[in-house]
Amino acid sequence: SFFSEVKTHSIDVFELFMRFHRDTHENKLNLAIGVAYRDDSGLPWTLPVVRTAEQTVAEDENLDNEYLPVLGLEEFTTAATRWLLGSDSIAVVEKRAFGVQSISGANALRLGAEFLSQVLGKTVFYYSNPTWRSHELLFKNGGMAEARQYRYWSEKTKNLDFDGLLEDLESAPRGSVVILHACAQNPTGCDPTEDQWRRIAGVMREKGLFPFFDTALQGFASGDLVRDAFAVRLFERMGFELFCAQSFSKNLGLYNERVGNLVVVLNDPKLVDPVKSQFTLIVRGMYSNPPSHGARIASYILNNTNLYDKWQDNVLTMFTRMKEMRGSLRGALEQLGAPGDWSLITRQVGMACDTGLTESQCEVLIERHHIYVLKSGRFNICAVTSANVDLIAKAIYDVFTS
Ligand code: PMP
Repeated sequence: SFFSEVKTHSIDVFELFMRFHRDTHENKLNLAIGVAYRDDSGLPWTLPVVRTAEQTVAEDENLDNEYLPVLGLEEFTTAATRWLLGSDSIAVVEKRAFGVQSISGANALRLGAEFLSQVLGKTVFYYSNPTWRSHELLFKNGGMAEARQYRYWSEKTKNLDFDGLLEDLESAPRGSVVILHACAQNPTGCDPTEDQWRRIAGVMREKGLFPFFDTALQGFASGDLVRDAFAVRLFERMGFELFCAQSFSKNLGLYNERVGNLVVVLNDPKLVDPVKSQFTLIVRGMYSNPPSHGARIASYILNNTNLYDKWQDNVLTMFTRMKEMRGSLRGALEQLGAPGDWSLITRQVGMACDTGLTESQCEVLIERHHIYVLKSGRFNICAVTSANVDLIAKAIYDVFTS
């Protein structure tokens, strides 16, 4: 066959998923559950504000299915950019910030990497250790050949390795691209403090490093959509040029609609047209133009104050449930007397939940209790419900004490 040389590439998340499906135990539980939010019944949740916006889109007879412009639905990209940076942002006011619609956050990262490598000839990029598993792949496939890590998490202190982080950034070559999680770092759930962000920005300015933010969980760190934009806004206010890959998968629950935007901040409005023209070329060479349905929904919400307030409420609902489950799980583990400091569970933000289980302990959790977690010992807090929290705590206790 033409394909006889092709080897199977195994991906542990998918293997875990298959194993879960094959398990016939009636109380099996998948805590690795993809990336999606679940409600307290363990079911996917369509945000009420999204339902409202979808109805409006469905009933709007002026809409058609013509191609969108190559760089996307302008009212969406403009609103999303303004929402991220704030309408008082100098870059917005001076018209040197704009957005490129993308196939959600993953593709916003890829578009940015393509631009940096193809147009600017950049090759070196830094990502946090650990980070979301796709960063390296997206940047390498986007033409950035030299992947390097900066320290982020200390297993010993179960906290940010801030000194390590600064040291690694300080020794990065000028012009390197640094991927920064804007908030709710995936997978540690641990963010720099506002003061630490200022120091990171200071080092990056001094060393001439290019910030490439990734914001996939805006609203999930503090429950407040705007507060979670702190880091990106800080860099923008300090006069940085930057990219920021925005995803609306999680905060709008629009996972399969692939709604994203690459925010581009330049320091000169005269550069907007040339930069846009290069992005146009990149998009044409990749998928020609983006899809419209999800972008229309997001656009309705971002451009309507009433719907926007409802969105903030819906995000708070998700945030509050995750926070409550963190409290319940920690409480249940402490009550059982499970060894260890469980405060990490309530210190973490976003979806990641760290159990401290080793790889072999995770295996026991799967084999004996039919509770599926990734071998890092981290799982998704969204999969925890009032109905299963005690069961999970007992299983973790059992694994730690037997
Ligand atoms: N960045 C991070 C850190 C993520 O966790 C994710 C999704 N898990 C994404 C980006 C991109 O997600 P999407 O492509 O669905 O927007």
